[in-house]
Amino acid sequence: MQNNQNPLKASRQSHANNTLVAVGDVVFGNGSLNIIAGPCAVESELQILDIAEAVKSGGASVLRGGAFKPRTSPYSFQGLRDLGIELLLKAKAATGMPVVSEITSSEQLPLFEYVDLIQIGARNMQNFELLKALGHINKPVLLKRGFGNTIDEILCSAEYIMSGGNKNVILCERGIRTFETAVRYTLDISAVAILKERSHLPVIVDPSHAAGDKRLVEALCMASVAAGADGLIIEVHNDPAAALSDGRQAVTPDEFSALSNKITALSCFLTNDLKEYR
Ligand code: PEP
Ligand code: MN
Repeated sequence: MQNNQNPLKASRQSHANNTLVAVGDVVFGNGSLNIIAGPCAVESELQILDIAEAVKSGGASVLRGGAFKPRTSPYSFQGLRDLGIELLLKAKAATGMPVVSEITSSEQLPLFEYVDLIQIGARNMQNFELLKALGHINKPVLLKRGFGNTIDEILCSAEYIMSGGNKNVILCERGIRTFETAVRYTLDISAVAILKERSHLPVIVDPSHAAGDKRLVEALCMASVAAGADGLIIEVHNDPAAALSDGRQAVTPDEFSALSNKITALSCFLTNDLKEYR
């Protein structure tokens, strides 16, 4: 796809080498695998602090926590909003981990000043005014693929951000809607390889929202790493049964540690870093 005669800024044709995106002191796209982990939503100070410490010691390098939750039903928990960001930043201060949270309107931008990575969720992948607003700031953006969108469309959405001057975009495959009902969404593993080929931007995978069921998370993580993902974003909750959103797909901190060890071993094996693997 081209912009007049020039290749798109997101495309490999315009930039042959992998782009590195720094999120705090964590670099995406340099060949090492980064794990983002945390709850779907920030629910309380105790909850986010507990989970933050647990995922840090379990091997995560970035903490996730939603404050503005775009839920299918207006009667479902909508997130703690401003307070959610405040508590997430407390967890950042306590652990030293960079944090990612989803933005749903450009009016929220001032609140995100100290959030290291701003997430555009699947439902807002084609909210073009929001994408343009993020193009004018110099902060990394995690752009999730819409569940009804093609690979070309996510690349065009990345272009909306990049054409405004912000080159710090990380792409995320999180499952698409298909005729299959055994999973919440169908994880499009091909998209990982295709995006890595067509674009120089880092590509990560969200196995949790694709599966909708924690029992599938490990298999999807392993497949994503094998397909060449630069990172994973995994939902972790210290009491999944009581979670205010997405409890069914959340792994516990202990399950996360075991999972993270396996993923790291596979990643080291694939990059032939056998010293670290042993
Ligand atoms: C989330 O990350 O919590 C989320 C809502 O993801 P998605 O936009 O991919 O559904
Ligand atoms: Mn979620």
